[in-house]
Amino acid sequence: MTEIHKLKQELVKICTEIYKQNLVILGEGNISVRVTGKNEMIITPAGNDYTALQPSKMVHMGLDDNVFDNKSKPSSEFRMHRSIYLQRPRVQCIIHTHSPFASTLAILHHNLPVIIEEMAIFLGGSVACTNYCPAGSEELPEEILRTMKKQNAAIIANHGVIVVGKTYDYCIKIAQLVEKMAQIYLGAMKIGEVKTITAKNQAPFIKAFNEKYSTLKDLLFA
Ligand SMILES: [Zn+2]
Repeated sequence: MTEIHKLKQELVKICTEIYKQNLVILGEGNISVRVTGKNEMIITPAGNDYTALQPSKMVHMGLDDNVFDNKSKPSSEFRMHRSIYLQRPRVQCIIHTHSPFASTLAILHHNLPVIIEEMAIFLGGSVACTNYCPAGSEELPEEILRTMKKQNAAIIANHGVIVVGKTYDYCIKIAQLVEKMAQIYLGAMKIGEVKTITAKNQAPFIKAFNEKYSTLKDLLFA
């Protein structure tokens, strides 16, 4: 079996998992994995059908937009995947969903503050929301990277959420974590004033994030 076929199988596994977790419905969201050591990625096809996933439907393409497979068309949102792989060499996987609670924050243009320590440990802090850019546009990838700063997640205004990471399992976990935190936060806001965790109290957890999960190349030496 070729390395590309194995990666396509991995991508199918990730899709299966996030579909099972109700983070995506038919045709929405997109997921990709990097082809290690090459300027290439495998990405889900346009209108990805999570009920009929096949490795052969996943699209192998270059980070220069050259598509190597001609069976399926890549997701129309491939640009944001491409730009993140080019600018963050440690990223191995990207998951973008329209999960409902994170998307609720997206239509409010509202950041998700650090409300539970897990967010500092696994996400590196709060999850900020981008300014509005149309889906699939040339401007959106830069806006996402600018918003993400040192973190591994961003809310995309009027659209959804994106998470990046060094391993597939981590990305699945934080796609779920952002959604859960957004749900808790939105629920708490209906009841009263939300108390967030101070920067001082986040510090030891952010140190753990920087050492273990950061996808910035030079953060450890900064
Ligand atoms: Zn989308």
